Amino acid sequence: MTIYLDHAASTPPRPEARAALDACLDAANASSTHHAGQQARVAVEASRESVASALHCSPHDVVFTSGGTEADNLAVKGIVWASTTAGVPHVVTTAVEHAAVAEPVRWLAERGEITCTVVAPRPDGCVDPEAVLAAVRTDTVLVSVMAANNELGSVNDIATLGAELGPRGVPLHTDAVQAVATLDVDAEAWGVAALATSGHKFGAPQGVGAAVLRRGLPVAPLSHGGGQDRGVRSGTFAAALDAAFGAALEAAVGDRAALAGRLRGFTDRMEAALTAIDGVHRNGPTTATERLASHLHLGLEAVDDFALALELDRAGIAASAGSACGSGALAPSRVLAATGAPGTPLRLTLGWTTTADEVDEAIDRLGDVLAGLVERGRRASVGPVS
Ligand code: PLP
Repeated sequence: MTIYLDHAASTPPRPEARAALDACLDAANASSTHHAGQQARVAVEASRESVASALHCSPHDVVFTSGGTEADNLAVKGIVWASTTAGVPHVVTTAVEHAAVAEPVRWLAERGEITCTVVAPRPDGCVDPEAVLAAVRTDTVLVSVMAANNELGSVNDIATLGAELGPRGVPLHTDAVQAVATLDVDAEAWGVAALATSGHKFGAPQGVGAAVLRRGLPVAPLSHGGGQDRGVRSGTFAAALDAAFGAALEAAVGDRAALAGRLRGFTDRMEAALTAIDGVHRNGPTTATERLASHLHLGLEAVDDFALALELDRAGIAASAGSACGSGALAPSRVLAATGAPGTPLRLTLGWTTTADEVDEAIDRLGDVLAGLVERGRRASVGPVS
């Protein structure tokens, strides 16, 4: 049986999400004035309220999207395009952002629509708030720093940034896509103007997410149409997906503290067992509060990317080996380049369905695979003995 250790890529839908999806699959158009339309609207708005309560914001701040990529793009482009600063606006971001933030920033800069400062991370993948604040200028219209990194699981101090930037009137956006499952994502306490989430990272189906865009924050829409969701995100409400998102988030938040505790125990156990293998080390933060409980990132000495992917598959382990880019191909990771994390990367990420038995079995299977690959790699790098 395959052991699934790739929950940061997508985690299975929770039963609450399946039930909500099923209940709303036949929904009418939530903008229609007839009874069926209004019933659909009630489901969407009830979900919006759950989302707001889970993320600590007002329901008016919640905009449903197709996922994390759209939520990030909406925040980055929407805030830049709505800014009224004289001259070319300036954006501050970091070198460890997901492509959903890094690419719109790069695209805007290439078109000459912004100038930007990209702040380097520490070697463990965390970003120092002081370094971010030092990059802010009088013409800065947006600071975008992720709450937690998808590869290394490094956690950033968003609340310190929010407390500094709020009084200065500089909007702070955070990509909280990886944080929601195990951290208390709190838009209010963090002082963020915008925040991105994605359903398939905590138990909603793929294809739905939500952006928090605080009231009073000018945001230009990415697409124009019927004016749904405050005119910021036109298009017929995806009632069933939106309802499933709210149901999953409510369940995830209810279970979050227990899940985080359980996963921390599992990842610690895996780390101890696997880093005991010669040639295997841990990348990312060492302090528990600076690392997601769900993430374990290993660096493997002298191991070939493709051999690793092949052997994991053979051993029945579904994990992120090397760096899978959007197309599924193995590509060099910007995050690992920026942090200088050594070794061939292996990301093991756990989620709400992970059991203690799976962890034990994974340790056994990975122990054999990794020890074999390191030994094979070392022999190959020495070359044939004559
Ligand atoms: N941001 C982060 C940190 C992510 O890990 C991901 C997905 O892996 C995204 C954004 C994009 O989310 P989605 O796949 O829902 O578009």
